[in-house]
Amino acid sequence: MSTSSHSYPMSSGDDQHSYIYNSSYQKACIDGNEEKTRRYILEKFDLLNLKSDLNTLNIADFGCSIGPNTFHAVQYIIDGVKSTHENRLVPLEFQVFFNDQPNNDFNTLFRTQPPSSKGEYFSFGVPGSFYGRVLPRNSIHIGHTSYATHWLSEIPEHVCDKKSLAWNKYYIHCNNLIEDVTKAYKVQFTKDMRGFLEARAEEIVPEGLMIILGQCLPDGVPHFETWQGMVVDMIGDCLMDMAKLGVTSVEAIELFSIPVYFPQFSELQREIEQYRSFTLEMMEIISHPLEDIPLSNKFMTSMFRAIFYTIIKEHFGQGVVDELFDRLAKKLTKYPIDFKECKKHVNYFMLLKRK
Ligand code: SAH
Repeated sequence: MSTSSHSYPMSSGDDQHSYIYNSSYQKACIDGNEEKTRRYILEKFDLLNLKSDLNTLNIADFGCSIGPNTFHAVQYIIDGVKSTHENRLVPLEFQVFFNDQPNNDFNTLFRTQPPSSKGEYFSFGVPGSFYGRVLPRNSIHIGHTSYATHWLSEIPEHVCDKKSLAWNKYYIHCNNLIEDVTKAYKVQFTKDMRGFLEARAEEIVPEGLMIILGQCLPDGVPHFETWQGMVVDMIGDCLMDMAKLGVTSVEAIELFSIPVYFPQFSELQREIEQYRSFTLEMMEIISHPLEDIPLSNKFMTSMFRAIFYTIIKEHFGQGVVDELFDRLAKKLTKYPIDFKECKKHVNYFMLLKRK
């Protein structure tokens, strides 16, 4: 499987319907934290005071997908900067760099850009993996990424190797049930996070900011205990049912493990604190405005279909996807998961400052 195939399926534009569900879930989170982000930008971002001759401010969103969340994120950053620098003699101009994998649907992104953004900033598309450099040195003042860095650059070594202790058996993701599998995922995650931050350290100017939003596990909670983990395990069970019927094969399942890793909160914090090029200005768990709405089976099926559409299609073939998610819907009805009672992921907000 190629690295680019690990991109979030929503970006392919294949499954717009489900995308709306998932995207609005993430948007609510971004909106909910808008005020907080603005406040932190006000407090921490004194770069413009240092350089009064700065006329153009460069913002980059890494893993932007096809919108609309990226537009909201960019707008709240611009609003935050503007409100701190109202009295400048020469008004600031903004350049925004939208980054995602080369197979992202950048056409949809630019076609759906809010008309109001036209007078607000100049837009650029930046195709390439954010695990390496995608922008010139010292060029970005504020970087942003949301709900993207849990996608690893590749499947961790040995998890699909039957002879290895780190073999993930018939599980299709890192559910924390096999210690050696968790270790292998963590090794890959650490390597990728380092790659991400090293690249950003080169691209972001001294004292520039990097905002990272995402999901992680609460401390002490394994993934298989969360409803998110349970649903993915259930998708794995559905694949097994289909293998028994010959729709797919056990061999194909053995060779499949989703390159996504959710660290625990403190584990993530420790990782981030190790990178010397940035100071971790703040990191906290943020509430999600949609946290308390009842999560229906329909919502779940749609959301996970959107998330895994491309990766499942590429590994098992297009024909498998519809049946798989029909089966998931039925299994969820037959064996309901009590989403309210289950443990769940938490959302985090991190603000890093380039030294
Ligand atoms: N930031 C948006 C989209 C999140 S979906 C939001 O908050 O709603 C995750 C996005 O990250 C996808 O578009 C996927 O293609 C992108 N992504 C995943 N791995 C990537 C990588 N290595 N380089 C660049 N983009 C990546």
